[in-house]
Amino acid sequence: MNAPRYFKTPDSKLKLPVFFPDATRAVVKTLDSQDIKSTGTPGILVNTYHLYRDLDRQLLSQFGGIRLFMGWDGGVISDSGGFQVMSLIKSKKVNGEIIDKGVVIQVSRSRKIIFTPEVSIRFQALLQPDMMVVLDDFTPPGASHRVAQRTVDRTVDWARRCRQEFTKLYPTPPRPYLLAVVQGGDFGDLRRECAQRLAAIGFDGFGYGGWPVKANGDFDYETGQVIADNTPAGYFLYGLGIGKPEDIIGCVKQGYQIFDCVLPTRDARHRRLYVYQANSFKTINLKKKNFYSFYDVKKGKTSDQPVSRACDCLLCRHYSRAYLAHLFQVEPAAAMRLATIHNLRFYSLLMALLQGKS
Ligand SMILES: [Zn+2]
Repeated sequence: MNAPRYFKTPDSKLKLPVFFPDATRAVVKTLDSQDIKSTGTPGILVNTYHLYRDLDRQLLSQFGGIRLFMGWDGGVISDSGGFQVMSLIKSKKVNGEIIDKGVVIQVSRSRKIIFTPEVSIRFQALLQPDMMVVLDDFTPPGASHRVAQRTVDRTVDWARRCRQEFTKLYPTPPRPYLLAVVQGGDFGDLRRECAQRLAAIGFDGFGYGGWPVKANGDFDYETGQVIADNTPAGYFLYGLGIGKPEDIIGCVKQGYQIFDCVLPTRDARHRRLYVYQANSFKTINLKKKNFYSFYDVKKGKTSDQPVSRACDCLLCRHYSRAYLAHLFQVEPAAAMRLATIHNLRFYSLLMALLQGKS
């Protein structure tokens, strides 16, 4: 497949594959934009729904987009907001419903939002990302073929409406990339149909939509392959929300080039640090089955060793395991920052190794 060779931002062309951590509300929890940069992380993912709900449009226009507002000069992808909205509705954390027009959400007693494909794209344009994602209708895990077909039909219809709105906003280049999302659950025929109907509309890439895990807990590579096989040449393939190191490696083999996930940052805040089973960067071997493990901060209360010898992050260069354990006890905010910096560095090193091999 003739895949894109880089991801373009205003200032650079990023090597692929890339991993963008989630900066849901325009911040990676516990870090500032300079901290993110120090880890070698090339870009971030912001959440359209949360920012649409919480951020003033005027302010966003005044700054000229989310990048300038955050003081961030790396890449930015804005998701459509659909996944979060639907998860909130399906988990009954908010009242709402999904109708053909869009998603209706009761944000508070007095405020109701109708989040349509057009609204999503117009707001993403205000964010000024490098890549936008169209609003899609998530196929719930375990859906029947009939229900999954309905989500595919709606996903294609919404993608068409997003495309129209996008073309109105950007009649001529430069334009951000526009990514469509392939739905259809674990029905190969529906994934194929969805990809083919979306390709007929025309986008810059496809995302692996829905839930990429099978009922037995295994990663669903078969569905990922069906999407990859039906992706036009020159398109990006994006593993939406996919972020376990071993899953990233598996998906890169299938041609996926963009990844985002909350795992490394969330795990860091819960004292789970990713550590290569190697004494230096040069000896990291991704082909080894257990090429990394989780380090539990509580186990290093008296250790004068760094968390990882293969890592050159702020934490590993300057502080011991014992000091990190102490910080988690007496000043968790400082500890979470260092742990998050470390986990993001683990991911930027992982992607550097994958770039070298692709
Ligand atoms: Zn480190």
